[in-house]
Amino acid sequence: MSARCPDDSEFVFELQTCRWAERAWPPDGERDAVLVARQLGTRRRRWDTVIVETNPEALAARVRFGPRELDSDLLHVVRHAPEGWAWYRDALPHPGYPWRYVRAAVHRAAGRGVVEKRRRGNRIEIRRIAPYPDWVRRIVAVENKPDLDASAARALASQLEHDVSRALADEVWVATATTDASVEPALLEDMPVEVGILTMDFAAGARSDAGEVLWYPSGLEPPGEGESGAGTDDRTGTRLRIAERAYGRGWRSHVETMRPDCRHFELRRRGDALLPRCAAKGRHQTAAECAGSCPRFEPEPPGWRTKGWPIEGGPGKGIQRLLAARREWVRERELGGR
Ligand code: SF4
Repeated sequence: MSARCPDDSEFVFELQTCRWAERAWPPDGERDAVLVARQLGTRRRRWDTVIVETNPEALAARVRFGPRELDSDLLHVVRHAPEGWAWYRDALPHPGYPWRYVRAAVHRAAGRGVVEKRRRGNRIEIRRIAPYPDWVRRIVAVENKPDLDASAARALASQLEHDVSRALADEVWVATATTDASVEPALLEDMPVEVGILTMDFAAGARSDAGEVLWYPSGLEPPGEGESGAGTDDRTGTRLRIAERAYGRGWRSHVETMRPDCRHFELRRRGDALLPRCAAKGRHQTAAECAGSCPRFEPEPPGWRTKGWPIEGGPGKGIQRLLAARREWVRERELGGR
């Protein structure tokens, strides 16, 4: 029997894995600083949970560039911005697309305060506010499969083989719900040996002792010259973009695509995690069903938004702010170490 509540979806399992990782990663060994996000990756491959390992000093250096993620265009400007003033076309490597797009990114970067900009004649010059730090130590990908039976393992195996061959992450794990079998079924399934296996027991919620290592992963080596996979520059750039998204979004951003403005939307505490719950359905809803198309959606009554409700903007806005504040709080805590 599996240690998960019968009405839990993979989505709820995933949120709890994220919360557990935020508290307890790595399962063994010294913790430095970690950021956790969900549903990130590349066009071809999206991971359920992404853990970015860093350290408080490097994270503090990244925080100088603000709380929002830097997309690839902004990264191009910020990473190459010079210490002293220079025309942006002299300072930045040719991006492989027209300069006018770079110029737009320069204006955007200056608007965000992540570089300085001035006009000299008809030229735009830039300089950096600080060196963009090398802040990503390791990226760990976790695939959540609460019920890892033979067919789920088969479906997962080819994706995991792809992860292993590309080595975009430094380590890949599968997280599955613990069972009371004498040998955990996950161990018997046919998966790449480089992939680690975690068993999660969320019967008492996402507590820090909820995860146990069943099988340790091998560190993945990036493909060498001439082998298939991303080139070194590509790989570095892709990893940085993933890390930036993890930094900016965290794992609580699900609330931005769900409907906390629905009168039935609740956050329910389970262990250390706050999980979305639908009062109308009497269970934890998935992110996909909690959308504008939900037939049971009802807007929060106007009275909730005005007087009588203690949080400005009504409970929907309050929930969004609460989760954003928790994301901020976690980032602050990682800056101070543990
Ligand atoms: S009724 Fe639908 S939209 Fe409202 S909280 Fe439930 S799942 Fe979400």
